[in-house]
Amino acid sequence: MFKHHNALKDAVARPLWHDPQIMPEPLPSLSEDTDCELLIVGGGFTGLWAAMQAKERRPEADIIIIEKTFVGDGASGRCGGFLNTSIAHGETNIGARFPGEADDLDALGTQNMKELLATLDKYDIDARYEKTGETNVALNRESAETLREEYEALREEGRDVVWFDKEQIREQANSPTFFAGCWDKTGQDGVVDPMRLCLGLKDILVNKLGVRIFEQTTMLSVNLLGKSRMKIVCESAEIISNKVLLATNAFTSVIGKIRRAVIPVWDYQIATEPLTDEQLNRITWGNAESRHALSDARNMFHYFRLTKDNRITWGGGGAVRYYFNRGIEMELMDAPARYEQLATEFFEMFPQLQGDVKFSNKWGGIIATSTRFCMVPGVMHQGRLAWSVGYTGNGVSASRFGARIGIELLGYEPSDVIKMDFVTKKALPWAPEPFCWFGVKLTQMELVRADNNGGKRGLWLKLLDRLGLGFAC
Ligand SMILES: Cc1cc2nc3c(=O)[nH]c(=O)nc-3n(C[C@H](O)[C@H](O)[C@H](O)COP(=O)(O)OP(=O)(O)OC[C@H]3O[C@@H](n4cnc5c(N)ncnc54)[C@H](O)[C@@H]3O)c2cc1C
Repeated sequence: MFKHHNALKDAVARPLWHDPQIMPEPLPSLSEDTDCELLIVGGGFTGLWAAMQAKERRPEADIIIIEKTFVGDGASGRCGGFLNTSIAHGETNIGARFPGEADDLDALGTQNMKELLATLDKYDIDARYEKTGETNVALNRESAETLREEYEALREEGRDVVWFDKEQIREQANSPTFFAGCWDKTGQDGVVDPMRLCLGLKDILVNKLGVRIFEQTTMLSVNLLGKSRMKIVCESAEIISNKVLLATNAFTSVIGKIRRAVIPVWDYQIATEPLTDEQLNRITWGNAESRHALSDARNMFHYFRLTKDNRITWGGGGAVRYYFNRGIEMELMDAPARYEQLATEFFEMFPQLQGDVKFSNKWGGIIATSTRFCMVPGVMHQGRLAWSVGYTGNGVSASRFGARIGIELLGYEPSDVIKMDFVTKKALPWAPEPFCWFGVKLTQMELVRADNNGGKRGLWLKLLDRLGLGFAC
């Protein structure tokens, strides 16, 4: 049991990014039968970027997006907003799973990030992007040693990295728990306000590019209609479409291959009220050389960052949960113990803020986790139905690349990318219940144990590593 924190007393159960001041009225739902060339199901980053890139490739394409609640209500509008260049969850994961394609994936990630930012510029989308790089902090001597090795390896690769010893990292962001830090400044990594990004894309798609978006519209089934078309049944009407892209990520899919490819893992976050200069001074963060976007080097890691108005958002850690039978009901966001745990872990890291810093928001979101810890694309019905799901906590920029793969699989200017192992190699399916729940639970317990044991992995984690199922990020 975690102690009750007064700091959480007035926290609203709503993602910080769903700021009532910027949230539009939902668009009308689909009320009559219609048809189109490309139907996209899901109004998160994958769906929005898919429409954007399909329009870039075929401006005359007639495209519809349907979204069961509202654009940005899935992981996209609930995430941490860390914008990371990697399209396959980081170098370690790529090295472990796609070693032969590491250079290509690296180059594609860089190109993807460049194009993403260029699109924001082109359409003047203010997603509150800040180029911060990414800073990883070690919380004990053993993980400082591992982090140092990673730093040396990155430096040898020619990346723009800075090492902070204990005193130096505490000048950048002062927690008594910080032992060392590694700041990777390479490229364009940074942070965004993810809801502003969703809403900016939505606005351009609807008002400039002529994409039809129906919110509050749930797809119930999708089937081949004759040889060349698809029939999509929604609650109140049907859509006939040439092609369909499923951008439904962690949400239960009508397609078995998608259901087996991902499990929904809940990740919770809290956000403080804006910090005063004096409060920021206590932790030195935000006033130094950089407004670092931070994560700690634990298995059950926290990720934390500043917003434009100097709030801290704080997520991850021990509050991450998988619920039996792939639970995704929104009631699971009402999880007081998870928020108490997050607040406890926050004040352990920043005890200087205890007493007068309050949390304004608390929320949860669903991470689509695949056994390869990065996106799982797929296609069926002779190239008429495709998907890209399962970004596993690293999807803000990767989802744009997933969207690109999705539309290329549907025939929109396909490139050699869709011939890569990264796209064609099958991901291992998750086990059915109760094995899945038991396996995830055991793994989580073992990861916590390893964290408390200087990073030393026990037998279960070693076995997973040998089977290529270890969390290699
Ligand atoms: C708490 C949290 C923190 C995260 N932090 C980061 C981070 O800092 N950096 C990072 O890179 N990644 C992060 N991620 C991951 C990232 O947010 C996701 O990978 C990314 O947003 C996935 O986008 P998406 O469009 O594929 O999925 P989603 O945004 O989940 O969109 C899927 C949409 O499909 C809709 N839908 C589902 N089924 C249907 C249906 N039958 N009919 C109609 N619509 C349907 C849903 O309502 C939903 O809006 C985080 C995720 C979470 C949950």
